Amino acid sequence: MVNRLMFKKILVANRGEIALRIMRSAREMGISTLAVFSEADRKMPFVQFADEGFCIGAGESSQSYLSGDRIIRAALDLKADAIHPGYGFLSEDAAFASQVAGAGLVFIGPSAPSIAMMGNKLAARKAARELGVPLVPGTGSALRSLKEARETMDRIGLPVLIKAAAGGGGKGIRIVSSAADLEDQLRLAVSEAKNAFGDDAVYLEKYIHSPRHIEIQILGDQHGHLVHLFERECSIQRRHQKLIEESPSCNLTAESRQKMGKCATDIARASGYYGAGTIEFLVDDELRYYFLEMNTRLQVEHPVTELVTGLDLVKEQIRIAAGEKLSVIQDDIHLHGHAIELRICAEDPTRNFLPQTGKLEIYRRPHGPGIRVDDGYDQGLEIPIHYDSLLSKLIAWGRNREEAIERMVRAIDEYEISGIPTTLGFGKWAMRQTAFAGGHYDTRFIEKYYLPEALASPDPLTEKIAALLGVKIREEENKGYFREPVNADLHSKWKNRRQKR
Ligand code: ADP
Ligand code: ADP
Ligand code: MG
Repeated sequence: MVNRLMFKKILVANRGEIALRIMRSAREMGISTLAVFSEADRKMPFVQFADEGFCIGAGESSQSYLSGDRIIRAALDLKADAIHPGYGFLSEDAAFASQVAGAGLVFIGPSAPSIAMMGNKLAARKAARELGVPLVPGTGSALRSLKEARETMDRIGLPVLIKAAAGGGGKGIRIVSSAADLEDQLRLAVSEAKNAFGDDAVYLEKYIHSPRHIEIQILGDQHGHLVHLFERECSIQRRHQKLIEESPSCNLTAESRQKMGKCATDIARASGYYGAGTIEFLVDDELRYYFLEMNTRLQVEHPVTELVTGLDLVKEQIRIAAGEKLSVIQDDIHLHGHAIELRICAEDPTRNFLPQTGKLEIYRRPHGPGIRVDDGYDQGLEIPIHYDSLLSKLIAWGRNREEAIERMVRAIDEYEISGIPTTLGFGKWAMRQTAFAGGHYDTRFIEKYYLPEALASPDPLTEKIAALLGVKIREEENKGYFREPVNADLHSKWKNRRQKR
């Protein structure tokens, strides 16, 4: 049945993998897609995929993906009726959401007041506290003076984190381990917050030593229906940003899952929330959970939830924005199997995950059972300097966690990327760690177990000699018994060599 109120054309105000991801769902719904892109992104797959494309400006985000005025103008000129902001960029900008509505367009996301309330860390903490949700101890409002910071630090005890109220993506977080550092760190944090997020509000939070990051995905429509889609465990992080995410978490019990799910929908209900959203928690060894923040948008790691629930979160977001009711009720939503995502970033894991630019000389995706690749680049493309380092997300589904891990490792081996260092090799290393396999890990996993040397491979010549020697030995061993398909073996050894990264 065709819904006559459904959008005809959606402008996707984002780039890379998430722009493509959103357009795919729109296309399945019969909605045409408009890509707005920067000069640096002309050749990107999301531009090729879109029904229409429009170049909105130079490579710098401020001239393109952060220019709300240009984006709205493009939507009006090219007759789009809704704007999907993806994640990052303008997705949690309440002023942009209301500007979109003011221009007679639909913002595919929560209402502007919901973003203002829940997208800001301090405002969200206040809302959670009023509901009696446990919070990480810290300040209730923006710090006004060094004196206030000192008093809070004395009350909650060292170490503490200074956090930017408008921060995100792991940026805007500073750790203070000694009282003498507070003044300097605070000054730096305030100026960074102002420059990076245009908002100098910062606050203090107690640093929890080895927590797990577990978050609950929620969906709400404009008719007051809210559901949660269980949890994602995202404890494997570098620079306070996730690298590996999975669902379900092997640490939650059915009871804690239920409790956290209810807590998340209560928070959303209290703020009249609609759209997709995520409530993030820190969880300790006793499964006590503390509200961390809410992300009022689609998250990078949403595919793991899609694979274990069978729902398409982007379609749900579009339907909700068009005023439709949720397609499911809580009792319809079940967990099926296990899914793990690895963020493949253009970063060098042997050099502190330093972001890299360069050209994707070889780029071949893995395929096969249980594998999903959400990526934004193709072979031959350059990684621009202006944006996030995320190239691709490799997502593996299995009937259980072991199968998901085996598929992930197999797909990492199949993935060929050269020309630029990535986190692929790190992902394989992580999958093979006892702590990961046993599910006993927290946000300090990398700090505790990872040494860059773990990824160092022997030089190519040594490997070539070893591979040829291996083939020769097997040939000798098999002589006189049966004929071995030597070439097949040689091929697989060569392939292994090429995949070392
Ligand atoms: P998620 O919260 O979806 O797990 P990230 O924290 O990695 O993912 O954020 C995804 C992207 O959005 C990153 O590029 C990050 O820099 C950007 N981002 C997230 N929040 C903000 C924010 N408040 N301000 C600017 N950029 C943000
Ligand atoms: P962002 O908006 O950048 O995602 P978050 O507040 O969600 O910021 O924090 C990002 C990550 O930083 C968390 O997932 C966690 O690993 C770490 N972190 C944040 N707050 C704390 C805390 N109080 N104690 C320990 N770790 C924290
Ligand atoms: Mg967060």
